[in-house]
Amino acid sequence: MKILVINAGSSSLKYQLINMQTEEAIAKGTCERIGIAGGKLTHKANGKEFVIEKELPNHTEAISLVLNELVDKTAGVISSMDEIDAVGHRVVASGEAFTRTTLVTDEVMKTMDEIAELAPLHNPAAILGINACRAVMPNKKMALVFDTSFHATMPDYAHLYAIDYDDYKKYKVRRYGAHGTSHKFVSGVAAEYLHKKPEQLKIITCHLGNGSSISAVDGGKCVDTSMGFTPLAGVPMGTRSGDIDVAAIEFLCRKKGMSMEEGLSYLNKKCGMLGVSGVSSDFRDLTAAKAEGNERARIALDLFTYNCKKYVGAYMAALGGLDCIVFTAGVGENTPHIRAAVLSGMEAFGIQLDASKNDYKNDGAIHEISASGSKVKVLVIPTNEELVIARETAALV
Ligand code: ADP
Repeated sequence: MKILVINAGSSSLKYQLINMQTEEAIAKGTCERIGIAGGKLTHKANGKEFVIEKELPNHTEAISLVLNELVDKTAGVISSMDEIDAVGHRVVASGEAFTRTTLVTDEVMKTMDEIAELAPLHNPAAILGINACRAVMPNKKMALVFDTSFHATMPDYAHLYAIDYDDYKKYKVRRYGAHGTSHKFVSGVAAEYLHKKPEQLKIITCHLGNGSSISAVDGGKCVDTSMGFTPLAGVPMGTRSGDIDVAAIEFLCRKKGMSMEEGLSYLNKKCGMLGVSGVSSDFRDLTAAKAEGNERARIALDLFTYNCKKYVGAYMAALGGLDCIVFTAGVGENTPHIRAAVLSGMEAFGIQLDASKNDYKNDGAIHEISASGSKVKVLVIPTNEELVIARETAALV
């Protein structure tokens, strides 16, 4: 069985064709600059990279180009589109409308339109991608895999905000979380690695990338997560502020003459590591700037790791104990000094890193970086959100 996984953004579209027998991507790539001048497809298959520069006025053109590449004589990996058994789409937000992977139907797409406003930066783009695929492959089975599904098990006291309960019921304003496919994947792999059943473990998963979230996983189920109603909440991120007093936003909007919409765009795009450092949202740039003595880069990194540490501590309390901490995603997998700073001074809680095990260059393998006597195991596990989407899609169709 072969599953095509699609992750559509507003101007980009990432894809992987996964062979479910081997669970390996036999082709993958990205369409960039959809709807703006300078469209480009980068396609990797058969050990080579193929680049096509072509205007991509909309997502339908982008999908058509991807499908052409997949069946192309030299760049292709399948002889016809019939070899694609189903398509799995990544969707960021489901609201309370969907709590599990769902087959695409007209009715489901109607609900998707209704909940699009829950993740205005992400869901409308996913809808464009899904509609484009439906136009180009009308008879193909398609599944929606939601970033929020894994978090649907959070108890009410963890997912509710302390607002008027009637407003929650009416407007569905609550914590939904994000990165669920990643938290699910790495917590499952951690259990396998530790030769335990998921039900036997209390795990904290730290998905630290450009967007970051931390989850508490008890017995294989998510019981709390740092992102909120939208992916703006939680730890500070590349360009997002993370948690902030709402009254400070109103104050900033007034002082800077921003509308609420502009204020939210500011918090999503100009804050976080970028805003604090004034250097970059990229942790590699921040690390280099700090090494050169840039004080604001130092503050940004300290602010990030301190807030991650606070979530780890809070979730140890929420879980009532801890067996394992997992680091994953761009920063979590690649940056030893961040991992060390997040877990520094936590020996009293049974968390002890082995500095030499932690200090390695990412090789795509699982690494156990806790000291041999550490009560809590600390693992670095490369995430694979596409594989989760493919597995869920295959299981459903
Ligand atoms: P996204 O949320 O966009 O999926 P990623 O998980 O790819 O983000 O993480 C992007 C972040 O990971 C960047 O800040 C970057 O600094 C960091 N990163 C990615 N690759 C590396 C690497 N090889 N070495 C150090 N940092 C890396």
